[in-house]
Amino acid sequence: NAKVIFNEIPTGYPEPGKTTVYDASSTIDLETVPLNGGVLVKVLYLSADPYMRGKMRDASIVSYSPAYAIGKPVYGFGVGKIVRSESEQFKAGDIVHTPLLEYAEYSIQTHLQYLDKVNPEPGLSLSVYVGALGMPGKTAYFAWKEFSKAKKGETVFVSGAAGPVGTFVLQLAKSSGLKVIGSAGTEEKVSLVKDLGADVAFNYKTTDTEEVLKSEGPIDIYWDNVGGSTLDAALGNAAFHSRFIECGMISGYNNKEGVHMKNLMNIVARRISMNGFIQSDLSSTWSTEFNRLVPKKLVSGEIKFTEDISKGLEKAGDALLEVQTGKNNGKKVVLVAED
Ligand code: NDP
Repeated sequence: NAKVIFNEIPTGYPEPGKTTVYDASSTIDLETVPLNGGVLVKVLYLSADPYMRGKMRDASIVSYSPAYAIGKPVYGFGVGKIVRSESEQFKAGDIVHTPLLEYAEYSIQTHLQYLDKVNPEPGLSLSVYVGALGMPGKTAYFAWKEFSKAKKGETVFVSGAAGPVGTFVLQLAKSSGLKVIGSAGTEEKVSLVKDLGADVAFNYKTTDTEEVLKSEGPIDIYWDNVGGSTLDAALGNAAFHSRFIECGMISGYNNKEGVHMKNLMNIVARRISMNGFIQSDLSSTWSTEFNRLVPKKLVSGEIKFTEDISKGLEKAGDALLEVQTGKNNGKKVVLVAED
């Protein structure tokens, strides 16, 4: 039973072979391994997400999601198939989704309250349950509905616009009649952002964000995936009573250097609302609507999504690095087994 072990706390980017180690040395007897009332899951798709870098920290530092334990497998959102069950709720053959799936070929799940049965949507791959129909899609949908207060004709700036969260947000914004400005880190990603309907798309590595926002703003809504100097530029070009949706700050996940913020006082002067959130907070309000509307929109192509699939568990360490450095093109998924 191959696994990806959390081996060492990184100081910068998570390095495959150092931060995480692929270990194929352990075996499992699928017929006899004790399940302690739980289920044995064959892992099919694993999600590589930016937040997982935050779990690679000293366990004494408290945050919203517990630290990974050194020497134990990395875990995250994933989809698998039940091989054996000691629970009445689940049976062999069920497809399940959980935020606690180990980066392994097989995983024993005993926290059954976190295990959801998946009824696969015809026309969509199971991988979509870790992407557009999973945590990133829900993040975009829930928080846009909760915080944007979007009005036709307003202007929104979306950073990290080419990823699973950003692409979903920009399509929601376009369908509400907003002017959309999107930023991303490669020309290929900028083209994708344009193809998805953004009115203005630019490469933040080669174009000055402040200049773009000065000429295309002021912005009524900022969807923040990156934090740092991009957030400062957005504050500098914010309209009065603008809404900032603070989703993530990936520019700071792999380094400890702070950024000098010039425009913080605008939060006060321009009466800006800053809305930080973790997607699970919003689930009870929005998940019924999401489950009713979004699968159909994905099947029909009304909402588009892209996936970037790494094949094989041995590629998982690289996948975790790629989402931090921006090498991924679309939702990063690790395919462990087809079925
Ligand atoms: P992506 O798949 O888009 O991957 C992250 C992207 O961030 C990279 O591809 C890279 O794209 C970009 N990036 C990396 N470093 C920097 C940097 N220094 N400055 C600007 N961009 C950078 O991720 P997701 O769509 O899954 O997630 C987007 C954000 O949403 C993350 O910040 C994540 O933590 C957050 N999030 C928050 C949730 C919540 O509940 N609050 C839930 C889910 C996600 P590029 O090539 O464009 O640089």
